[in-house]
Amino acid sequence: MPPALQQIRNIGIVAHIDAGKTTVTERMLFFSKASHRLGDVDRGTTITDFDPEEQERGITIYSAAVSFQWNDITVNLIDTPGHVDFTAEVERSLRVLDGAVVVFSAREGVEAQSETVWRQADKYGVPRICLINKLDREGADFFGTVRQIASRLSAKPLVLQVPLGMGPPHVANPFRGLVDLISMQLITFSKEDNGATSTQGPIPQELLETATHWRDDLVSTLFDFSDEVAELALAEAPIPCELIRAVIREATIARRIVPVLGGSALDCIGVQPLLDAVASYLPSPADVPDVQGMSLSGKTEIAVRRPPDPNSPFCGLVFKIVADKHGDLHYVRIYSGTLKAGSRAWNPRLAKKENIAQLWHLQADRREQVLLCSAGDIIGVIGPRGSVTGDTLCDAAAPILLESICFPETVISMAIEPETSLERKKLSEVLDMMKRQDPTFRAVESEETGQTIISGMGELHLEVIRHRLEREFNLHCRVHRPRVSYKETVARQVVVEGQSNRQIAGQTLFATVRLRAEPTEDQSAVQTVQEWFPQDASSSHVAAVMVSAIGESTERGGLKGCPLWSTRFTLLESPLPDPLPSDVAIRIAAADAVDKAIFEAGTVLLEPIMKLEVSVPEAHLGDVINDLQQRRAVITNTYLRAGVTVIEAESPLSSLFGYSAAVRSVSQGRASFTMSPLKYGPASAETAESFV
Ligand code: GDP
Ligand code: MG
Repeated sequence: MPPALQQIRNIGIVAHIDAGKTTVTERMLFFSKASHRLGDVDRGTTITDFDPEEQERGITIYSAAVSFQWNDITVNLIDTPGHVDFTAEVERSLRVLDGAVVVFSAREGVEAQSETVWRQADKYGVPRICLINKLDREGADFFGTVRQIASRLSAKPLVLQVPLGMGPPHVANPFRGLVDLISMQLITFSKEDNGATSTQGPIPQELLETATHWRDDLVSTLFDFSDEVAELALAEAPIPCELIRAVIREATIARRIVPVLGGSALDCIGVQPLLDAVASYLPSPADVPDVQGMSLSGKTEIAVRRPPDPNSPFCGLVFKIVADKHGDLHYVRIYSGTLKAGSRAWNPRLAKKENIAQLWHLQADRREQVLLCSAGDIIGVIGPRGSVTGDTLCDAAAPILLESICFPETVISMAIEPETSLERKKLSEVLDMMKRQDPTFRAVESEETGQTIISGMGELHLEVIRHRLEREFNLHCRVHRPRVSYKETVARQVVVEGQSNRQIAGQTLFATVRLRAEPTEDQSAVQTVQEWFPQDASSSHVAAVMVSAIGESTERGGLKGCPLWSTRFTLLESPLPDPLPSDVAIRIAAADAVDKAIFEAGTVLLEPIMKLEVSVPEAHLGDVINDLQQRRAVITNTYLRAGVTVIEAESPLSSLFGYSAAVRSVSQGRASFTMSPLKYGPASAETAESFV
């Protein structure tokens, strides 16, 4: 029997790297008895990081779906990586999840990557709860982190617990437990059984004032969401815990507040209350808005909604593909209807049916085959051949196209060549498979040079791919230095006219295409816009063909052969010959117009600019800043956080190669940093000149 919709939580755990996501996941599995041992990140024995590459590096690269029971709730949990090179993993998880737990380190507070993930969660409208982890660490600051959640993330934190003590065992008042502000009880966790037994008791005298203050804060925040709470509070009557929880649930799902809890995942403090909060406050698939998509009715597209009802027609989204011994395993979030093993489903992008041979419920280290699954579920499907990440699968009798997942542009590329020509075919097959699995990875073969250019989100991303080629597929490649992916835009606005005036096979192909080309502020690929809309049907068809022909012609790139970026091409009123031009003539004229525009305007070389955040202790501040300046970085902000200086800077990616080794050496290993792609900006004069 599949669980009732209300009993499902599809959630993700997201955070800055090292905040403790994997440890939190492990503890959840342990306390829900899905796992019998306590996994340890530092010893490479976790369940979700089961890829050898991950265990070696101690970071989560491939998100894994894990299901477990907590009381009467089925939690489908996706562990996501925090490293920015793997941002696509986070993006696609958020797209299919209904709620998220955001983990912060109480020592580091709100870090760069937490902000990025927070914005992604906003974009997908994902309700959240926060865990302030690592309260057992030296310098942990629970309330400071709460303030940062409000100020840096512009969120409304609702504090549900206050910690008893903070810091490691040797400090005067170490972290020992949590006061639950709803029941107003102190919860402690026994050391003997790794925190499995929790005990409730009265709030110690020393914490009474703090607890009362935050309890008042909690209750008065809820006034905005419930008259009943307000009336009871004003009458100084007791407020039932169940009422408080129900109001918090509603406000969390409406994304008006973010409940905040505390804990130490490492010491197993606060994990069960976190699981209770997931069940109490995060939405079930029935609580989120119906999924939206486009449906074809005759020749026109109409927007449609599908309720999460097992009896409505089936639709789901492929959000991850993993290669498997028995064929690719497609992770599908089912939004509506029911899917049966041994059936077929429609892929509207391919306009064909795909086989649904087997259905698997996935745990990180084992899986269970099922015959049927329905709305709200996350399931592994074996059978489809052509579907890729972001594709919709649906009932052929009720086709719908769900919005796909958008992935960021690649910023770095590297040439590789197999050592023997025998290996070339194998390499190309393996890279094809990797492209299907990872939508932020590209690979293009060049016939002329025999090289393959692979591109991705950063140095680490490409390095991991290269390791997989060697380790999993025994493919040894010569590797060239990675280089950044350059782009071009037109240098100024121009208006041009392209012609076709050819004789082919006795036929005159005559057409004229007028267009305007201009650079834009948008961080996006080429836009083609139609400004001229002729009235009669056949001329309006001609104009539409012109627009798409312009779009195709721009794919050849700029003067230096790089892809065009931040550029708009607008079709202007063009003279129409009689008889109207053929499609072939239009294509020739459009290509001519695009070539002329690029040539007349000239182009500007663009390079990826990264946002960099470096945390460094005072003693090494000068050296780190010096090094940054030599790298053409622009420092945009510096401030103090938990005793270290945080430097925010923007720098071309091309001057950041090898930065992790460099920053380690100038700071004697004491600085840490994160970077994320910010934008494409004009390359320096030297770079542009030396560009061949
Ligand atoms: P992730 O990168 O977010 O998945 O973080 P991990 O779970 O891999 O943890 C990063 C490091 O922090 C590891 O060395 C963990 O042992 C450690 N860690 C995680 N949670 C805690 C905690 O609550 N307290 C302390 N002191 N260390 C923790
Ligand atoms: Mg991890």
